[in-house]
Amino acid sequence: MATSKECIALEDQYGAHNYKPLDVVLTKGSGIWVEDVEGKKYMDFLAAYSAVNQGHCHPRLVKVIQKQAARLALTSRAFRNDQLPFLAKELCELTGYEKMLPMNSGAEAVETAIKAARKWGYTVKGVERNRAEIIVCDGNFHGRTTTIISFSSEDQYKDGFGPLTPGFVIIPYGNIDALKKAINKNTVAFLVEPIQGESGVVIPQEGFLRESAELCKQNNVLLVADEIQSGLGRTGTMFAFEHENIRPDMVIIGKALSGGMYPVSAVISSREVLGVFNPGDHGSTYGGNPIACAVAREALKIIVDEKLIERSVDLGNYFINKLRAIESSYVDFYRGKGLWIGIVLKKDAGGARRFCEALRERGVLAKETHENVIRIAPPLVITREEIDTALIAIKDVLINKT
Ligand SMILES: *Cc1c(COP(=O)(O)O)cnc(C)c1O
Repeated sequence: MATSKECIALEDQYGAHNYKPLDVVLTKGSGIWVEDVEGKKYMDFLAAYSAVNQGHCHPRLVKVIQKQAARLALTSRAFRNDQLPFLAKELCELTGYEKMLPMNSGAEAVETAIKAARKWGYTVKGVERNRAEIIVCDGNFHGRTTTIISFSSEDQYKDGFGPLTPGFVIIPYGNIDALKKAINKNTVAFLVEPIQGESGVVIPQEGFLRESAELCKQNNVLLVADEIQSGLGRTGTMFAFEHENIRPDMVIIGKALSGGMYPVSAVISSREVLGVFNPGDHGSTYGGNPIACAVAREALKIIVDEKLIERSVDLGNYFINKLRAIESSYVDFYRGKGLWIGIVLKKDAGGARRFCEALRERGVLAKETHENVIRIAPPLVITREEIDTALIAIKDVLINKT
């Protein structure tokens, strides 16, 4: 077997450098644990940006993917398969929406939502052709396609990739007056992360989502929630928008929809909105394939059967209270919902990256988001004992740093 050093050298030589990963080369995973090629074990506190909420290589998902791969993998949507109808039904019944549209990556599902909102604007709301506007938030992360980066507020995401797609308006996250001002007769949608993940687990001011939902309703604007990272149990509810008792018109999911086993994403919405698509309007060769659908069906069942949402509430509260008891001169404050916690470091702490590297030395894999936030997002199958083990490392790093 190749060593970590060899793997890193090969990747450096032959791979594009569009990521800056921690130098840990993983080869195995089970539950919250991963193992590197030298046999060192780590706790995974990123969970592939919450794709692995159900834990690495969940035995039920391994079984389903093996079985379905041996039976039928891909038909394309030119033909039908016997898994998609049941995923569609089970997903709609679980979430209370009327229709779904399956894709693969999260970004594709966001693109799907943008297309649905625009077409809904022209065909249902009556917006003048090619005038549709979608409002988004400062600090957003919705993916990496050319259209999606067009409305990123992060300069690096856009720099060198123009010309950009028009039709988007950025408002400050959490600012209801700015939303009110930005809405006009051409506004078709407000696209928002109920909690911003990549921005550092940023929770908007209480009431913002509720008031946004009301404003959208009054103005015939679709409220579109990007729950790709915040959804499917991460924050202690099925969807993060439930914390404010609202019901967006369209919800975008991905990541944990497959428990990390396979790329599966979807848009869920009403008959009115997803009904705007006619045959040929939109599609994907792999979207809705039998493996994806079989895996997603099982991944959703695991969330329910293993009470991952309830675990996220209980263990999230336990975790953040333990963290708050750590007296560290580097920490500004902690914020979080469920098992999704941001450790916000002080400006002079020297950045979150070095803390993540120190955590790695102690067997905990976490990733900095932006410069100053350590994101804590372990698989939701984590136990209290495992949290206690991780807390020893976290405490040591937050007090001694290295
Ligand atoms: C990860 C993520 C995406 C993009 O998903 P990909 O599968 O990486 O394309 C979009 N929105 C949010 C909120 C995400 O966290």
